[in-house]
Amino acid sequence: MIAQYLDIKSRHPGALLFYRMGDFYEMFFDDAVRAAAALDIALTKRGRHEDADIPMCGVPVHSHEIYLERLIRAGFKVAICEQTEDPAQARARGGKSVVAREVARIVTPGTIVEDGLLEARAHNHLAAAAQANGAWGLAWLDLSTGGFSVAAPDEAALPALLAQVAPGELLAPEALAQAPPLAEWAGAATLLPAARFDSAAAARRLREHYNVASLDAFGAFGRAEIAAAGALVDYVHLTQKGRRARLSPPRRQAEGAAMAMDAATRRNLELTRALDGGRRGSLLDTVDRTRTAGGGRLLASRLAAPLTDPGAIAARLDMVAFFAEAGAAREAVAEALGGCPDIDRALGRLCLGRGGPRDLAALRDALARAGALRRLLEGGAPGEPAAPAGLARAAARLGVHGVLVDRLERALAPDLPLLARDGGFIAEGYSAALDEQRALRDESRRLVGALQAEYAARTGVSALKIKHNNVLGYFVEVSAAHGDRLLAGGDFVHRQTMAGAVRFSTVKLADLADRIARAGGRAVALELELFDDLAGEVAARADDIAAAAAALAEIDVAAAGAVLAAERDYRRPRVDDGPDFVVEGGRHPVVEALAARSGGAEFVANDCRLAAGGRLWLLTGPNMAGKSTFLRQNALIAILAQAGCYVPARACAIGAVDRVFSRVGAADDLARGRSTFMVEMVETAAILNQAGPRSLVILDEIGRGTATWDGLSIAWAAIEHLHAVNRCRALFATHYRELTALAARLDDLACHTMRVREWRGEAVFLYEVAPGAADRSYGIHVARLAGLPESALARAEEVLKTLESGEGGSPAARLAHDLPLFAAPPAAPSAPAAAEPPALAALREADADSLAPREALELIYRLKALLDPPAPPEAP
Ligand code: ADP
Repeated sequence: MIAQYLDIKSRHPGALLFYRMGDFYEMFFDDAVRAAAALDIALTKRGRHEDADIPMCGVPVHSHEIYLERLIRAGFKVAICEQTEDPAQARARGGKSVVAREVARIVTPGTIVEDGLLEARAHNHLAAAAQANGAWGLAWLDLSTGGFSVAAPDEAALPALLAQVAPGELLAPEALAQAPPLAEWAGAATLLPAARFDSAAAARRLREHYNVASLDAFGAFGRAEIAAAGALVDYVHLTQKGRRARLSPPRRQAEGAAMAMDAATRRNLELTRALDGGRRGSLLDTVDRTRTAGGGRLLASRLAAPLTDPGAIAARLDMVAFFAEAGAAREAVAEALGGCPDIDRALGRLCLGRGGPRDLAALRDALARAGALRRLLEGGAPGEPAAPAGLARAAARLGVHGVLVDRLERALAPDLPLLARDGGFIAEGYSAALDEQRALRDESRRLVGALQAEYAARTGVSALKIKHNNVLGYFVEVSAAHGDRLLAGGDFVHRQTMAGAVRFSTVKLADLADRIARAGGRAVALELELFDDLAGEVAARADDIAAAAAALAEIDVAAAGAVLAAERDYRRPRVDDGPDFVVEGGRHPVVEALAARSGGAEFVANDCRLAAGGRLWLLTGPNMAGKSTFLRQNALIAILAQAGCYVPARACAIGAVDRVFSRVGAADDLARGRSTFMVEMVETAAILNQAGPRSLVILDEIGRGTATWDGLSIAWAAIEHLHAVNRCRALFATHYRELTALAARLDDLACHTMRVREWRGEAVFLYEVAPGAADRSYGIHVARLAGLPESALARAEEVLKTLESGEGGSPAARLAHDLPLFAAPPAAPSAPAAAEPPALAALREADADSLAPREALELIYRLKALLDPPAPPEAP
């Protein structure tokens, strides 16, 4: 067995080997040591090999998914090796044959298809990056749904594209392991030999997979794209051990078709994940009203890759607009989609040969709903607007699945097991042959019951029972007291004596048991055949079903967008090719929702008008006055609008944004060993190097992480650069009031400030953006709110006054010469400090090295007396 193990292991060196032994997957040697540590399970040392103990650990087959998930998350790949024959077959081959085993599949982070291992509302992408003639190609797919895309980004655009795709696993040639654009994804990388990225072999792979003579049918791809796509398909074959995954033909994401955002911008804006990495508190979480997992995934993809083409954006918005008006249709969709199963992933598993009866049921239910929805949308309701072209197309793509649905309805039993091999999932009346075997089995079971009555009568033991377990099969059981009576009865053969019971077998019972087993076995075999039939029928219709799934998701997203709009008063944005960016009465979707939920103060809406004479806004105002919120809300509104969603604003008309850059807040990136200031500068550098006239840049508090004058200088230069070189639309928040001087010199720079009202010496933040500059910074006000001591606050006022006086030399010189010394406030009267105990004073004086033993002892006793609690008064 160990020889077999080592042979299989040698063919899968990069993966842990789950070696099937009965009801367990066992791991041995180094695999066992690493897995036991990662899973925190016990390592056993069973057996010896070459004079050494063999470390070993195992996980039960029935609950292996939990362990698998933890191993995959910990970065392992797992090769699952199954028994391909039963022990009887092995024995039949001769004396000491080991049961034949084969790896059925290699589980890697990018190739998971089980619901238990996947997030329902997020795609799990497997991606591959390749290079040919210096050009890059990126391909990505979701094995659980079959979606497959390729792109040929230039090197500078690759990191943003990777951030959009966010692969769970990234395949790359070994030679590119250190390539800078891939650096961010090193943790998810699987490095493969260059040969797997050979573009000629890749083209062949793709032609074979899709069974086409030429790839031209899918579009014109570059060599790097083909190499990446081919490597992906190759890897899927490799990990699925030749099972054919259902993949849609690769679709090209054209350069510039999607709004580009780098990883830092996505993190800062908390698009699909909040800063803590969870979904809660993200934009997606706030605006998602979809009812199906597929709809949730589609919305997530759209927010991750908003469009730039105004026509395509308008088409999506038309669908939302329809549902916003057609209340009856909106409710009908909600009704049809509530609780609708995840059709994409059920289909993916069935096509991969890893589906079960419940996946068939998921298709039955989802396709039935698709049919109902189609009739409803095509029928239209009186008095409601006509469906826009996009919706009509989606409705048509829902397709007609009556025959399949009807067949599944007839075929499937009401209660379904997870695995087909457990049997019992085919409904009565669907297959005459199956019903016959089941009848035989049930008839035999009935005969067992009759036999029990017969034996009880014959032996006079009324408590005699016929029972069943996995070890003995069927047996007769009586209490210990009646054991002898049965032995005397002739045809009872003793099998087992338990505490208080004795068990017997009989020829007649064995015969019945055999008939039950055979009929049961034949029934399950028939069910498996029927399952394969049904799965085959599903696979044959896979393209239509996938189209229906895509249409369902699209309709779900549109209807959900209208639900959100009604609930939170979102409005339709207008996106065109113009240069302006105008939002009236805009709100921050997440902050507003949080305030609404916690019953806090109403969110204050603000306008943002970036147009000639003010493409760049300089926003000043105190801390906590709402600057970051305003910056982010405008970026989020642009993203929502271009994703085809309604936006939290009274009105919105923007020229399509090709890239969003955001540098907000100061988050340390200690994991990568960079200081706050370094991170800030790296991100600022990216913006100044890459932003163009169609970009939207939001910059918050640039230069804060360094000394005042450095920081101010860098911020100053950055604004001039954005204004003259990048010529982008930008919002620049700062607490440096000095920067407002730039407004007089730069045509396209406009100054705005967060309004603050002073009331009885206190500052009240109004959260209103108004033209002008902050006249004070209110930093000391915020410090007071935070609870700094009054004396320190008063001193800060003094320092500020000296700095702002503007007389007599540099600020530093003024502080050094003109500022009176700090007077510590008189200490509050308190208890006089206790005098130091003499023993401690002595210890302080003592020189340990030169202490005589007697002196040392004495000191020890005195210290001990000091530390020991006083002795309780002695009892009389
Ligand atoms: P700044 O960037 O100026 O320090 P923030 O944008 O972080 O300020 O805002 C501080 C807090 O003020 C936010 O967390 C939010 O609770 C509140 N706030 C900001 N803008 C608004 C607004 N427009 N309406 C209501 N509350 C707001």
